Amino acid sequence: MALVALRNVTKTYPAAGATGSPVVAIDDVSLEVEPGDVFGIIGYSGAGKSTLVRLVNALEPATSGSIEVDGREITAMPERELRRMRLGIGMIFQQFNLFDSKTVRGNVAYPLTVARRPKAEIASRVDELLDFVGLGDKARSHPDQLSGGQKQRVGIARALATSPRLLLADEATSALDPETTHEVLELLKRVNREFGVTIIVITHEMDVIQSIATKVAVMDRGRVIEQGDVFDVFSDPQNPSSRRFVATVVKGIPSPAELAVLRERHEGRIVTISFRDGDSSQASVFLELASAGVEFELVYGGINDIQGRAFGHLTLALRGSDAAIDAALASIAARVDVTEAD
Ligand code: ADP
Repeated sequence: MALVALRNVTKTYPAAGATGSPVVAIDDVSLEVEPGDVFGIIGYSGAGKSTLVRLVNALEPATSGSIEVDGREITAMPERELRRMRLGIGMIFQQFNLFDSKTVRGNVAYPLTVARRPKAEIASRVDELLDFVGLGDKARSHPDQLSGGQKQRVGIARALATSPRLLLADEATSALDPETTHEVLELLKRVNREFGVTIIVITHEMDVIQSIATKVAVMDRGRVIEQGDVFDVFSDPQNPSSRRFVATVVKGIPSPAELAVLRERHEGRIVTISFRDGDSSQASVFLELASAGVEFELVYGGINDIQGRAFGHLTLALRGSDAAIDAALASIAARVDVTEAD
């Protein structure tokens, strides 16, 4: 059974002024997050990602549709039950949202204090959590004495205090540098693996999805335009809008501006060939071009690695007779994806 299931969920905000029109922040979204998933939700700013998180956490009501968490419909749940339900959901944020006046220990203890757990239990649980996130020696520090990465580790320890089954991470690494981002993502992987916590990761960064997500939903203007296994969605997106989005976040696909530069610099026809793990080899493509008498030059490219599986895009400038190029491309296109710039 799915841990989180959204069916035809819509969220509309009323118009801001007398003349404005209502904002459809979430538009008929359906998705299922299975226990143990690291489920990524990616999209440009304004796509509706944060709104979706607030709906799952019942911080705001949906306008229509059904939201089940752990098998229970939350859209009509009374506030008392919602409060209990939220104890089963941890949350971490881009700006960490720590209490500056409390120590690290006080921050991590906070949800347990609110839940009125016995003092001795709180003390041992906080020790355990601080050890887990590697901040055992910072218990007495205040947040302003910590680096960004350390603050987020406190955020993670606090989110785990009540042993939630689900963790919501809203742009949790967007304020961090690449190295610290990597550390925090590694920690989140351990949270998923060692505690079996299901994680929903909201991000606009491909690197985050690539490094930890097992499944992904791509959002655009309130809609989920594509979802599935991370490798499939990023190596072979089906929907035209998600193709456009994916092209901006994966490595190796030249943007229209970069294509214009390539065309200026190189004679001949510009063609991008996309490879996926297990596809026919690059060598066979090059051999085919060479044996057809087509000269080629590699002018742009990149390889993406998603949890050990590779896919990439190589852009070539081809020179030769049109007939020879057409014949070679037709034969290559039967095995790998070929796109010719127009
Ligand atoms: P994302 O997290 O992908 O950047 P958001 O969920 O924050 O996107 O926003 C989705 C859309 O909903 C945006 O057009 C935003 O302006 C609008 N929106 C979000 N929150 C509110 C709100 N409280 N009131 C009115 N409009 C909102």
